[in-house]
Parts: sequence; structure tokens; C-alpha cells
Amino acid sequence: MSALSEFSLIKQYFENITTERSDVILGIGDDCALLKCPEGQQLAVSIDTLVEGVHFLPDVDPVSLGHKSLAVGLSDLAAMGATPAWFTLALTLPELDQQWLAAFSKGLACLAKLHNIALVGGDTSRGPLSISIQVHGFVNAGDSLRRDGAKKGDLIYVTGSLGDAAGALAMKQGKLTKGVASEVEVNFLCQRLEQPTPRVEVGQMLVGFASAAIDISDGLVADLGHILHKSAVGAELDIEDLPISTALSALSTEAEHMALFAGDNYELCFTVPPKHKNQVQKKLKGQCQCTRIGTITGDDGIVFFKDKKLIKLSGFGYEHFSTGH
Ligand code: ADP
Ligand code: MG
Repeated sequence: MSALSEFSLIKQYFENITTERSDVILGIGDDCALLKCPEGQQLAVSIDTLVEGVHFLPDVDPVSLGHKSLAVGLSDLAAMGATPAWFTLALTLPELDQQWLAAFSKGLACLAKLHNIALVGGDTSRGPLSISIQVHGFVNAGDSLRRDGAKKGDLIYVTGSLGDAAGALAMKQGKLTKGVASEVEVNFLCQRLEQPTPRVEVGQMLVGFASAAIDISDGLVADLGHILHKSAVGAELDIEDLPISTALSALSTEAEHMALFAGDNYELCFTVPPKHKNQVQKKLKGQCQCTRIGTITGDDGIVFFKDKKLIKLSGFGYEHFSTGH
């Protein structure tokens, strides 16, 4: 390690890199941060860890890594309808690479400023590269978007497009199954994998309108499954309605499968009672793409419709269930 001490490393790359907030009484530099929570609000808290070789490839651009490390936490806040406020960062570094630190800090600070979330503390140690970020946000008491509120008849929506991150990974591994990627398509898919957009504003807009929400980190089927389980309901999905980007469908014969089962999306999946349908569509117009993909049912599990036929989920794929529907 170079002459740069842990103290000056923190000062140089992590102190004062985010916007100042009046609710941070004491930020980086003491044993604890001191923070002020607004009256009548609840604190939404979530932590995620990204480990090299498990959650990201060793050659990933450090600016993107800084962005993504915070984006995954912001996505959790979005899924609760919370407003971002503060975060802490536990960084384990194999070596002191100043170029890497400057780039990582830049990616982190850029997204943090966009969402007015302040870095208030952390921990720095040496070891295999790993990044843990704990995010804190506010939500009016009783207003949060939880997983357990979906009701029979509610409409199911997702933001953005699904499966792009898996497509990007397949591309990086030379496993794409169709065509030759153009530069525009390559950039789009890489951006979706490495710099996902947390749907923070959409989450906040859904407060009071959506009956349940989750962010898609493990795949649509798995994450919608959590809503269904917690809400004790089932779902019908229309395969044709899944939002799949033109880049992904141009480059993979597996696009539909990726949209259903692949993770790392950081889009929101949410349910809306029919009476709020028009308001939600109006509110989200111009925000980001939002697609209705199905309906909540009173049954157990998920059934799929494709070409007007009922299809049943099995294991990691789906199979034709009957041809008569
Ligand atoms: P302690 O030994 O009391 O835990 P540290 O020396 O680990 O204190 O940290 C000193 C200060 O720097 C603390 O306020 C801590 O929150 C902050 N800090 C340490 N590492 C980071 C980091 N990677 N990002 C932001 N703040 C950090
Ligand atoms: Mg410490």
C-alpha cells in the first residue's frame, strides 16, 4: 500500500462528495453519524453487498461500479416508495489504487447527487474487493409500498424493459444467440447491466395508488412470486405483453426467457387496484415506460398466456399446459 493512509483516503475520496443535507447533524469523521429523522416519517433501511466475481466482473469500469453499488440500494428505497436521505459505505479493497478510487467515487457521487442522498459514514478495510452500501430513506408513516397488499383483480405493471442485464452478460461472455450486435445495441445493453436506473421517482409517485411493489433483482417470476406469497394471491401474465427491448430481441433467441427469469433488472413490479388505473397511467406518463403485464388472481401461483393459450410454469422454464384456451 502507498503512503496514503486510511484517514486521507476517506478524506480524499469519500468526504464531501455528496450534497449537504440539513438533517445530517454530524457526518463522516466521528465514531457515528448523527442524523435527524423528520417527524411523522418512518425510516426505510436496506443494505446490499456486491462482491467481485460474484456480483460483478473483475474488469468492470469502476465509475459504473460506483453507480451500481448505490443504484441497487436506491432501487430498494424506490420499491418502498421512500425518499432517499443517507447512506453508509463499507469498502473492502485488495490494494490502494488511487485511479480506481477516484473513478469509483465519481460514479457513486454522481448518482448520489442526482437523488440528494448523503454519504454519512462507512468503514474501509483490506481484503478481496467488496462493497456494502446501506441506504436510508423516509416514508410517511403507513404509506410505504409493501409486498403484502396485492388483491384479486389488481393490475400488474413493470417499469422499463426486462432481461437486458442478462443479455449484456451473455454478450460479454460471447453467448448471444442471434445476429451481430451494433454499437448502439452493445452500449444500451451494457448500460442496463452496469448502470441501472433506480426508479425512485416512480416509486414515490405510486404511494397511495399501488397496492404492492417490489424491485426486480432476482427476476420477474421470482420477485412477483414474493408479492404473491406475501399477499396470498396468484397471477395471470400475458407473455406477449412483456416489455422486451429491441436490442435484446434482436440479439437473443432467449429474450422472453431472460425477461421472465433473469435478475439484475432493478425495474419495479407493482400492482394497482382497477379504480386507480387511470390516475396511475396519467401520473407515470412521461416518467418512464410502464407496461401492464397481467392481473392478480385469487388462485395460487402464476399462470401464463401466450397466443391465447394457457401455459404453466415449471422449474426454470415454462411449458404448454393446454392447447384449448
Ligand atoms: P472507527 O474506527 O471509529 O470505526 P474509522 O476509522 O473506521 O472509524 O472511520 C473514520 C470515519 O470515517 C468514520 O466517521 C467513518 O464513518 C468514516 N468512514 C470510514 N470509511 C468510510 C468510507 N469508505 N466511506 C465513507 N465514510 C467512511
Ligand atoms: Mg470503522
